[in-house]
Amino acid sequence: VEKRGLPLHVLMLIGFAVGLTGGLIVNATIGGDHYWVQQVTQNVTGPIGQIFLRLLFMLVLPLLFSALVVGVAEMGDLKVLGRAGIKSLLFTVLVSTIAVVIGLVMVNLFRPGAGVDPTVAAQLLEQGKAGAASIVENAKSGTSGTNFFVELIPSNVFKAAADNDILPVMVFALLFGVGVVMVRNSATDHMLKSLEGLFEVMMKLIGLVIKLAPYAIACLMFNLSALFGLDLLVRLAAFVGVAVGAMAIHMFVVYPLLVWTMGGMSPIKFFSSIREAMVVSFSTASSNASLPVSLRVAEQELGLPRKIARFVLTVGATANQNGTALFEGVTVLFLAQFFGVDLTLTQQFVVMLICILGGVGTAGVPGGSLPVVAMILGIVGVPVEGIGLILGVDRFLDMCRTTLNVTGDLVVATVVSRGEEDTGYDEGDVRPSVG
Ligand code: ASP
Repeated sequence: VEKRGLPLHVLMLIGFAVGLTGGLIVNATIGGDHYWVQQVTQNVTGPIGQIFLRLLFMLVLPLLFSALVVGVAEMGDLKVLGRAGIKSLLFTVLVSTIAVVIGLVMVNLFRPGAGVDPTVAAQLLEQGKAGAASIVENAKSGTSGTNFFVELIPSNVFKAAADNDILPVMVFALLFGVGVVMVRNSATDHMLKSLEGLFEVMMKLIGLVIKLAPYAIACLMFNLSALFGLDLLVRLAAFVGVAVGAMAIHMFVVYPLLVWTMGGMSPIKFFSSIREAMVVSFSTASSNASLPVSLRVAEQELGLPRKIARFVLTVGATANQNGTALFEGVTVLFLAQFFGVDLTLTQQFVVMLICILGGVGTAGVPGGSLPVVAMILGIVGVPVEGIGLILGVDRFLDMCRTTLNVTGDLVVATVVSRGEEDTGYDEGDVRPSVG
């Protein structure tokens, strides 16, 4: 019963509520192991959810590749901004790493997904595995130690892509971006333009696929709640609590410390200057949509040099997403706990690396991290269907993590500006196109 005019996230919430309630009622009355419930979940709601997930997967490779290459090529435009590029790159990696680590520590401490009835979880895991395996063949599970680093380098990038071995593909994309920066002539400029085009087309398609989300969420939620019952709600609340708690630490402890120590600015001045950007990012759940406002506060409220602000914020809107990296880590570990998949320390380390890269490869639009989360789940062998569990609460978490993303961009801009202030920037030099 969808009405045309309702915004997508409201429809998603409705789908979530309908699927959840339906599943809970079925679970409480007929029971999750009833023949017909099994038939419906396996042959109707299951496949519909799968189609949605496969559509997301379909877009991951071209999206990540184009986003990473363009991101690096822009970030590394050394002729234009020299040190600033390297500084922001290093700082981005540092801050994302802190974010992901906070998230992972919190999930390991509170274990919001643990303690699910093992028989039900095993059953779902079997279903999920079958589904996930058809999408992500060869879900990497046992990579360890030195092999891990060796296997990061694809010996054949097409084979890696065909096997859905995302990490080696990401490494290739990063190197590719570096190569583009080093060559930089009219031919590579053309190619970059095409990759930007590819990126935009993928974004468009994601926009279309996301429109299916309300139905898919209803189906995925029905499946999960019919099998899990009320237990599910409790876990979900715990998940949201842990995610928001971890984000709050990053926002109110890590950022102020960085601004103060590395940026040389009082955190109070920082936060009061960027209020507007925080409100806009929270309400739009899109870093890209918030860009004009963050450019404005950076220049007019924080008084950062325009050239630095433009560069760092424009690239950062796509490439620096601390909140997203944190969220991806928390989500993957939560779902692993939920489905009783034990992730070794090495695997958690892999999750961390992918989340840091994932923060770079995630598009700055509402729900931009969903394809990336789906992909990471596949890599570590957690049932991809689990994503249905978090989709219903995703909008709220999206608003929170986007606020973190945009604030993080402004933190980076502040820190990078610190040493660059005396480069003698000429007002007439660059004319900002936005803000
Ligand atoms: N909505 C986020 C952003 O625009 C991306 C995501 O995590 O979905 O920054």
